[in-house]
Amino acid sequence: MPVEALGDYDDGNVFARILRGDLPCKQVYADEWALAFHDIAPQAPVHVLVIPRGRWRSWADFSAGATDAEIGGYVRAVGHVARMLGLETPGYRLLANAGTEAGQEVPHLHVHLFGGKPLGPMLAG
Ligand code: AMP
Repeated sequence: MPVEALGDYDDGNVFARILRGDLPCKQVYADEWALAFHDIAPQAPVHVLVIPRGRWRSWADFSAGATDAEIGGYVRAVGHVARMLGLETPGYRLLANAGTEAGQEVPHLHVHLFGGKPLGPMLAG
């Protein structure tokens, strides 16, 4: 069920529970700003989610309200994970769904990192 990009943060969302350690994940990387783990329903040979540690619902509130340190730490973590996974030379795709028309389902900011094969056209359909 798609969610709105803005609104109150829901501490019960699945990624908040993963951040608290209440739910397991297949972790790829963690630092003080971000956590990266494999998507539970991968859509490419590499499909990793990178999430900030802060209580941000989407790119909309994060880009408007997060500190420069949070934004810098998070963006660097996304790049670090792509580098770690050996994706810089073959290439990779980043995708962040924000709000209902984008089909965002989990109301905690996440960037999808796809790679491991030619990824085809940018948008399906
Ligand atoms: P989005 O539609 O951009 O909100 O994407 C949410 C993503 O979270 C989907 O690709 C789901 O497969 C993924 N997902 C949902 N629950 C989990 C979970 N427990 N562990 C890992 N990925 C998850």
